[in-house]
Amino acid sequence: MSEKIVVIGETKDGSLRNVSYEAIAAAKKVDAEAELVGVICGSGELEELGKEMIYYGADRVVTISHDSLTAYTSEGFGQAVLAVIHEESPKSIVMGHTSIGKDLTPKIASKLETGLISDAVDIEVEGDKIQFVRPIYSGKAFEKKIITDGITFFTIRPNNIPALNRDEARSGEITPKNLDITDIRTVIKDVVRKASEGVDLSEANVIVAGGRGVKSEDGFKPLYELAEVLGGAVGASRGACDAEYCDYSLQIGQTGKVVTPDLYIAVGISGAIQHLAGMSNSKVIVAINKDPEANIFNVADYGIVGDLFEVIPLLIEEVKKLQE
Ligand code: FAD
Repeated sequence: MSEKIVVIGETKDGSLRNVSYEAIAAAKKVDAEAELVGVICGSGELEELGKEMIYYGADRVVTISHDSLTAYTSEGFGQAVLAVIHEESPKSIVMGHTSIGKDLTPKIASKLETGLISDAVDIEVEGDKIQFVRPIYSGKAFEKKIITDGITFFTIRPNNIPALNRDEARSGEITPKNLDITDIRTVIKDVVRKASEGVDLSEANVIVAGGRGVKSEDGFKPLYELAEVLGGAVGASRGACDAEYCDYSLQIGQTGKVVTPDLYIAVGISGAIQHLAGMSNSKVIVAINKDPEANIFNVADYGIVGDLFEVIPLLIEEVKKLQE
């Protein structure tokens, strides 16, 4: 194993985010022979997280634990990750295209004076040629990019490249790295969580999203129930957020979250282009709308023309029956 790929792990609430494991699978696609070096930044004990990266395919993990890394700051995490990159001299670096990934990776790329391919949804390898597939024009088309020189630095969109199977029989070295982290100008005074409880929207396999057709905050209740029986998360259109039926943290679309679940159920959503920008790459789209001409049916794999308040309870009932 001569060449190395650094996989930058990301944690949330004390666990690694699933996209960290997907990033390991992406690194394997780029070069199955390379040594995969995971990096985890945080505070306190990080060894267990290191083990998880190894179970999912990393060969070795470097952990950097420091009080300054308790909450994310680009200065702190930037220093920590760069220190590992300088030490390892990888030929490739990968991270999830999450809020943190979007903030951290361009800063690291500029320090390394290298390019960055962001938001890859697939990787195609033909001999020596590695093509990164990424959506453009709000998901209406895809481009394929190659890197001809320097470090192959890329981020992957969550939920697109499946993680490898977890294998507890895998072993690898976990090296805690002591680092003096200085010059952090950002002061985190408080972290206010607005996100919905339960499954994280950007990593959910099933999303039930409501639009203005849901009509009120109470109207979202059946959607939460359907999401619960399906083990999914609830999202929304901007129409629903603007109408104050739900929090903006649920907004999906051009100015909201971009999601690619296995199943997206659009409920009372008309299918404006700005909404499609955030969900049209979902694997299976089901639309429920009382207007048969609604644009959402143009991207839907399955469409139900009907009143959502009649359709959703029937769906919940059927799903429950199937689960019995
Ligand atoms: P509507 O367009 O009002 O559609 C409601 C739908 O509900 C209708 O199709 C109706 O037939 C159906 N309906 C009503 N009652 C029922 C019922 N009982 N049963 C079944 N169906 C019913 N939008 C986003 O979603 N995300 C974004 O990120 C986003 N970014 C934007 C950025 C910009 C710069 C701009 C200008 C707009 C953006 N928008 C975004 C807004 C977007 O253009 C639409 O206005 C918005 O998506 C409409 O939301 P909606 O589909 O919920 O509402």
